Amino acid sequence: MFEVIIGLEVHVQLNTKTKIFCNCATSFADRQNVHTCPVCLGLPGALPVLNVEAVKKAMMFGNAVNATVHKKSVFNRKNYFYPDLPKGYQISQFEIPIVENGHLMIDFDDGTQKRIGITRAHLEEDAGKNIHEGDRSLVDLNRAGTPLLEIVSEPDLRSADEAVRYLKKLHAIVRYLDISDANMQEGSFRCDVNVSIRPKGDDKLYTRVEIKNMNSFRFIQQAIAYEVERQIEAWEDGVYEDEVWQETRLFDTVKGETRSMRGKEESADYRYFPEPDLLPVIPTEEMFKEAEKIPEMPDEKRKRYVEEFGIREYDATVITSEVEMARFFEKMVEEGASAKNAVTWLTVELLGRLKGGLTLENSPVNASQLATIVKRIEDSTISGKAGKEVLDYLFAHEGADVDEAIEKLGLKQVSDDSAILALIDEVLSSNSDKVEEYKGGKEKLFGFFVGQVMKASKGSANPAKVNELLKERLSS
Ligand code: ZN
Ligand code: MN
Repeated sequence: MFEVIIGLEVHVQLNTKTKIFCNCATSFADRQNVHTCPVCLGLPGALPVLNVEAVKKAMMFGNAVNATVHKKSVFNRKNYFYPDLPKGYQISQFEIPIVENGHLMIDFDDGTQKRIGITRAHLEEDAGKNIHEGDRSLVDLNRAGTPLLEIVSEPDLRSADEAVRYLKKLHAIVRYLDISDANMQEGSFRCDVNVSIRPKGDDKLYTRVEIKNMNSFRFIQQAIAYEVERQIEAWEDGVYEDEVWQETRLFDTVKGETRSMRGKEESADYRYFPEPDLLPVIPTEEMFKEAEKIPEMPDEKRKRYVEEFGIREYDATVITSEVEMARFFEKMVEEGASAKNAVTWLTVELLGRLKGGLTLENSPVNASQLATIVKRIEDSTISGKAGKEVLDYLFAHEGADVDEAIEKLGLKQVSDDSAILALIDEVLSSNSDKVEEYKGGKEKLFGFFVGQVMKASKGSANPAKVNELLKERLSS
């Protein structure tokens, strides 16, 4: 039996307005190379100036993961050549990163959690982009110099499933903090995975293989599964030493396999040395105080939801797993929906209808509309079934008013006594034989009468009212 050891390095793009060492905008949807200057083009003699906003965001992250935020950290040059890195080195942090020794809790479906260590988080600049067009390659430096926070986990993860749970939690945390849009498709949240195996019971660490640059939870899961199997097979076939060595591999998303890209560099290969053009990072007292003001994090929110609203722990975990969902839920409760029904209508009815690129952020139905549907069910204006019809109507008629939709669809429940009594009398007089049987002791016929009245009202009668009035009528 083997144990799987996984450590993750995640690069998070910080959402500052300008780049980390110059005033260029961090916007790379525009025409190539327009957001560039001598600093981010790497022209000789240009001097970097540190963007304090990037430092503040890194400090907030440190506090959110219970880490040490260093009073003094240092930038280094990491030397390597690549066409999208015109300076010939990346400014990064090495021996003394801004954040060290933190942890976060990953969530399992049964409500239990596991602590995963965060070794460090350091600030660095992003590189540009190589664009390959036919037989030539172009370089776009709009992205060069965008601030990144590289977050390195301890090798505490034991399966692909745990790795994905860690990434989801980390993703939620940076979104809650609003320090990154963490958009995976656009590469603002990307991940390198280190995988090794060892016989169970062994505490030695064996050769780790790095799988680079992944930006989808599904592919990360597949890549780890493939790599683990490859290493175990090599071990069992007695060719581990020959086939598993320290290297960087890429995941081929089409073939579903990892393949060798290059030998993994040791840190000595980068000839790190302190960046002579930047002073050490020494945040002020005030910056430390500011960085402590972080919003309520997923774990705190979850605890509060269970205590304050009495919802199930599992539901609270689902709701707090994404900041948009937590906001949507809180808004619904604020608007007067009960927490329990808000959970169901949000996670089952609304999410079930958000398909084909629709998300909570661009949902055709907002929190206030959904809360109104829930309230109309709770005050018996409409039935739960009718609520679903209203929701479907709102999906087809974006921006429609809930009460107008109820009117228009004729879904209002009849709660008016006289109207329901009229229906009851009609049903009872046309079923006089059954009324006799009922009065003679065949009490289970009661359900039949309820059904007939509901049918006569075309489902619009308030069932509780029907029950109440029917009982009265039959006992008189
Ligand atoms: Zn610039
Ligand atoms: Mn990095």
